[in-house]
Amino acid sequence: MVIPYARQSINQQDIDAVVAVLQSDYLTQGPAVPAFEQAVADLVGAKHAIAGNSATSLLHVACLALDVKPGDLVWTSPISFVASANCALYCGAEIDFVDIDSETFNMSPSALEEKLEQARKKNKLPKVIIPVHMGGQSCEMQTIHSLAKTYGVRVIEDASHAIGGSYNGKRIGDCRYSDITIFSFHPVKIITSGEGGMATTQDEHLAKKMQMFRSHGITRNSQEFVNANDGPWYYEQQELGFNYRLTDIAAALGLSQLQRIDRFINQRNEIADRYNKAFTGTAITAPSISENVISAFHLYIARYEFSNHDITKGHLFSAMKKHGILLNLHYMPIYRQPFFQKLGFDATNFPNAEKYYAEAFSIPMYADLQESDQNSVISSLLNVLSAQ
Ligand SMILES: *Cc1c(COP(=O)(O)O)cnc(C)c1O
Repeated sequence: MVIPYARQSINQQDIDAVVAVLQSDYLTQGPAVPAFEQAVADLVGAKHAIAGNSATSLLHVACLALDVKPGDLVWTSPISFVASANCALYCGAEIDFVDIDSETFNMSPSALEEKLEQARKKNKLPKVIIPVHMGGQSCEMQTIHSLAKTYGVRVIEDASHAIGGSYNGKRIGDCRYSDITIFSFHPVKIITSGEGGMATTQDEHLAKKMQMFRSHGITRNSQEFVNANDGPWYYEQQELGFNYRLTDIAAALGLSQLQRIDRFINQRNEIADRYNKAFTGTAITAPSISENVISAFHLYIARYEFSNHDITKGHLFSAMKKHGILLNLHYMPIYRQPFFQKLGFDATNFPNAEKYYAEAFSIPMYADLQESDQNSVISSLLNVLSAQ
């Protein structure tokens, strides 16, 4: 038995919900998608929620709704999944990165302020910034929001790791400090719909645009038609959109999973507490979670100063694998990917991301991770590292 770094938690209620859709009239474009959208909107306190077939699709749709186009600039965090950056490139815009904070691993508000000030002087401000709630911990959104206002920049929160988490006592996704928030329901994330994602916003105009872009740029709402309504068959394609729709099969699974969101978050936080206690007084640094945040704990990211020890990160990964425990790294800085290297980034601009890449690794974290498995993660890790 191998312990992975993440996995889904599926129960009989989830299975029954999916089977019920399979036996119904609609496998897609039926009632399960709007029901799931409404439930996520209610959970996070957003007026609008738009489901899609992945967070990647919805990041693209969110950029399109904010009119990101060739000639525009988008900034995100270098320590994220590549999708956080690719969405800008899909729109023909240019991408750049803001270094992370070395304690939270989130976009650093001070690095952001400095970069915005320099960009203003060069008249090269970004249109959109995409802070990423790394591992499930919210970014310092209040500061990021006030900087965005000062410099006239729009904000998309990449909350792929963070559904169920909160910031200043409010759920992530209420968009109080952003234009749009994006969640992912990939099986490694907090809740799953197989593949899938959700965009939330308080802005009706942005919601309409995202609904259109996720489905071919088509509207069937006669109040939105620009030309005369020819008859009952009539609809209009008003934008160049995509088929990024979520199926009802997936939505039913997501909606069923959502009923257990708080249980999942609690279980993940309990596991994090046990890890934290076990690593106190060792050379392993536990993640630090800000006072005003409840992390969704998608990831438990530990750090170790490999450069001061005889073991490399590669050796740690293979030694743990021999114990049946799979570690992971979230993430290699995006600018180190060959595709992004071609765009010409200078790693010395991102010292905190580089240090993070040298020291960080993710250990197993998921709601169903049993106590005996937590214990073997802890003892194997302490064994392997102190054996040096
Ligand atoms: C998983 C993830 C995505 C992409 O999510 P999909 O639903 O798999 O498309 C985007 N950003 C971050 C930070 C992620 O972790």
